[in-house]
Amino acid sequence: MRTFIKTLPARLGCQSLGVAPAPVEHLRVIGGLAECPGCGLYQHVPELQPGQLAACPRCGQHLLKRRRTAPVAAPLAFCISSAAFYLAALASSLMTLNVYGRERTVDLLTGPMELLHEGWGEAGLLVGAVTIMAPAVAIGLMFAILYAGTRPTLPNWAPGILIWYEKLRPWSMVEVYILGIFVAYTKLTDMAHVDVGPAVYLIGGLMLTMAVTDSTLDTERIWRHRKVDALTRLDDGDVVEIEYVHVDDVGMPPVERLVACPSCGLVGEMEHPVSNLHCVGACPRCGHSVWRRAPESLTRTTAYLIAAVTFYIPANLYPVMTFMRMGGGGGHTIIEGALELWSDGMIPLSLLVFFASITVPMLKIISLATMVVMTWRGSRRGLVRRTRLFRVVDMVGRWSMIDVFMISILVAVVRFNAMATVTANAGMVAFAAVVVLTLFAAWSFDPRIMWDAAGMNGELVDGLSPAVLKRHDSDTPQGPSRPAHTSAAAPRPAANMEPNQA
Ligand SMILES: [Zn+2]
Ligand SMILES: [Zn+2]
Repeated sequence: MRTFIKTLPARLGCQSLGVAPAPVEHLRVIGGLAECPGCGLYQHVPELQPGQLAACPRCGQHLLKRRRTAPVAAPLAFCISSAAFYLAALASSLMTLNVYGRERTVDLLTGPMELLHEGWGEAGLLVGAVTIMAPAVAIGLMFAILYAGTRPTLPNWAPGILIWYEKLRPWSMVEVYILGIFVAYTKLTDMAHVDVGPAVYLIGGLMLTMAVTDSTLDTERIWRHRKVDALTRLDDGDVVEIEYVHVDDVGMPPVERLVACPSCGLVGEMEHPVSNLHCVGACPRCGHSVWRRAPESLTRTTAYLIAAVTFYIPANLYPVMTFMRMGGGGGHTIIEGALELWSDGMIPLSLLVFFASITVPMLKIISLATMVVMTWRGSRRGLVRRTRLFRVVDMVGRWSMIDVFMISILVAVVRFNAMATVTANAGMVAFAAVVVLTLFAAWSFDPRIMWDAAGMNGELVDGLSPAVLKRHDSDTPQGPSRPAHTSAAAPRPAANMEPNQA
């Protein structure tokens, strides 16, 4: 993918294009229009009121949300709390185990380090990356975004930071780690005396403050700070001039000429129909590479799924860990781990482990494979259900990491030589590979291609549909929105449509 255009408008400025060839094309940036990332339907979205959200009338996907809270102050307060919780959690102990008078105290770093020492470096790095590095990077990037949000116009570096934040955020798995700690704690209480350290409560606090930071951040309002560049360069090298129009003034252009930025949602109209196979160029607002559909979506998803199925077999056949106690014990697989919890009377926890470790990976593989096959066949059956299922699959995938986290904690804390020792086994690495590969499979799948393949994204026969407006605290529909020119309560967004004049 050619990315040189990314840096062009933002960093060199428009003056540097003075020696470049004269513009050969026009690109129209169209305000008041949004493409649904779930089904690819273009729709009219008016200016939202605080507390309102716009949803797709065809598949129900949320398109835009306007928060009631202060756009920078509220997330900043929670972000500072997150940083405090994070630093305190790093410095305090996670758990102390007492076996026949011998004590062992561990912290957040011990689990990944023990996995590294035992020769399971991949798993140790993965656990360290998603529980220690990713939260730190996410908090740091959030501070940078919020600082940028306080500037009168968004600095040139800010869009890249926001794009990276959105890419990295799913890798911060603090909330899943909390459950991993809980399962490990339950497994330990029947064999020894366990003291929970302050880090557990601090991680609980970190989980809440990071979630609240995300839910109070109004990315759309931050994008509005960023003015659109006056010129941009397409992927074929042509320089294009950008014109700013509102959908109410120009009407709905032909759908095959429209393309939406996958990062900031800005909709542009090209002079020619846009191919799904090539990158169009850089977004004139955020600099993200713009593709009409995620590149090679079907092929990539299929490849990740095949790899995930390959690892799924050893992940379930081989033991994930070995529990040795007073010379007895032995290795057990994921299913045996869940059954053991059941036989110990911890039925809800056993069901949770069974659901997260066995049902979720299988559900992900089967549902994504079904979506791939039905897309190949151009099937129209259950499109809305499939799109909703995709959202669920995309959301629940990270929870399968519970078992990997639990093992990393047990390996760290249960080290009493002949008395009691837990070691990790090959099954755990295979299982971690399944989780990561199914995450990649879901992220590379673009649900809009299901609708394309079924022929649902052609010419808009019924004209431009308005997005459904709801309140996001109650999710009660407020009826379809009306186009801005018929609604007094819907002023036209203008700030983000102005050219970025030097
Ligand atoms: Zn939709
Ligand atoms: Zn963009």
